[in-house]
Amino acid sequence: MIEAQNLIGGQEVTTSQRMEVFSPSRPDEVIGHIPQSIGVEVDLAVQAARDALRAWKQLGPMGRSSLMFQAAAILEQRVDELAQLASQEMGKPIGEARGEALRAVAILRYYAGQGAYPVGDVIPAANATTLQYTTREPLGVVGIITPWNFPLAIPMWKVAPALIYGNTVVIKPAELSSLTAYRMFSLIQGLFPPGVLNVVIGRGAEAGAALVQHPGIRGISFTGSSQVGQGIARAAADRGVKYQLEMGGKNAVIVADDANIEQAVELVVSGAMRSAGQKCTATSRVIVLDGIHHAFREALTKRVKSLAVGDPLDANTYLGPVVSASQQKRVYTFIEHAQREGYAAVTGGQLLDRPGYFIAPTVFDEVRPDAEIAQEEVFGPVVAIIPAATLDEAITITNGVRYGLSASVFTRNLTTALKMVDELEVGMVRVNEETAGVEYQAPFGGMKASSSHSREQGLAAREFYTETKTVAIRA
Ligand code: NAP
Repeated sequence: MIEAQNLIGGQEVTTSQRMEVFSPSRPDEVIGHIPQSIGVEVDLAVQAARDALRAWKQLGPMGRSSLMFQAAAILEQRVDELAQLASQEMGKPIGEARGEALRAVAILRYYAGQGAYPVGDVIPAANATTLQYTTREPLGVVGIITPWNFPLAIPMWKVAPALIYGNTVVIKPAELSSLTAYRMFSLIQGLFPPGVLNVVIGRGAEAGAALVQHPGIRGISFTGSSQVGQGIARAAADRGVKYQLEMGGKNAVIVADDANIEQAVELVVSGAMRSAGQKCTATSRVIVLDGIHHAFREALTKRVKSLAVGDPLDANTYLGPVVSASQQKRVYTFIEHAQREGYAAVTGGQLLDRPGYFIAPTVFDEVRPDAEIAQEEVFGPVVAIIPAATLDEAITITNGVRYGLSASVFTRNLTTALKMVDELEVGMVRVNEETAGVEYQAPFGGMKASSSHSREQGLAAREFYTETKTVAIRA
């Protein structure tokens, strides 16, 4: 049982109202309690972060780096514990959760290492004795709001760059993964000066909204749904606050006639079904060229039928439950609508008759590109096969949605691959790789409605968490 608290100014701060946390695989079991913070706690946290800002900046990048390397070493010792908690709290299979915990450690180390990187340029000045250069300044106090589907990696890929570049942080993790976020940050928060890293736990509409609207925030980084993201964009733009939004996806795989079917099937299944399809980069549509359609559908259906669905803490489980009763209802409604539109699932299409929020991994075939299941983000273990007669038609279908996060193409032909790279309207194109592959050292983000057009991770994160200052010094 985890009793999570807010972490504010180096102290554990509770609230009078607390909420029970249940496991999605055993919904009768209470696994912990979380605070239900409101504006008061957000005020305290932003004030603590403001008070800590000057000293944190003056510590310099190498000083900050050293503390972050120590934090990574501590978390590395606790990977199994964190993975187990994430798996229990949001239903991710334990192997995946362990991979995510290791990734959070690697991300922290990567950004700790950035403390030793050069930050600016020396630029010639009109006066030959003037030294002109650029440096980078932190934004100040940064508000961070995260979703539940990557309870360790997403908080870390925002917090780590914020800290190394000299910002102080108030993070509000998703209610459905707050135990995990609390545990991770409580293990390392004491290494930093009080107020540098603050965690406020509560509902999005209360604690999240209070953070977004707080006058002490200079930047806001959000990952979550497009609906919430758009509201955050308006609130931030009105007050001149820098913002960054990573939102939904409707990611497509194109399977060309010359694809290696076995490879395509394995990576489509992985992209669509791991984490029960609850990834912003999950494969949600498979656009298959007519010549390979039948063979691909047969192989995909066979493989999906073979997947082990079950207890996320069992190492043999391929996919566990979805995160909550409301998520199960939402996903199942999409399945019912598709069935009502006349699409029969070639496998799956129903809820599983067992405790927990389980949905059978589902494949629809012969889906029209304008069907709801081919247009809307489902965020569950459901994939739609859409036949296409030509590569050009496959490109038109891929681009014919409002999102533009990730897309993959399976082909052995370099010309086809390069055509896709050129023409697909997405932030990440992957050839013979799954749509959901993410590497922390490379820029991550989407086009169109998937993002606010900034990028996270890799060196791209520096663009968001810093501002350039141009300096001229005459001797
Ligand atoms: P969500 O409902 O938008 O919630 C995301 C976060 O925003 C949560 O912490 C939530 O708090 C908070 N929030 C809710 N209402 C708010 C408000 N009015 N003001 C401020 N904060 C508010 O999204 P989700 O259901 O957690 O996550 C699923 C979505 O995230 C999907 O659309 C998925 O594609 C997207 N996602 C995108 C990426 C990416 O990098 N592009 C990665 C992962 C997920 P509570 O949960 O506590 O209410």
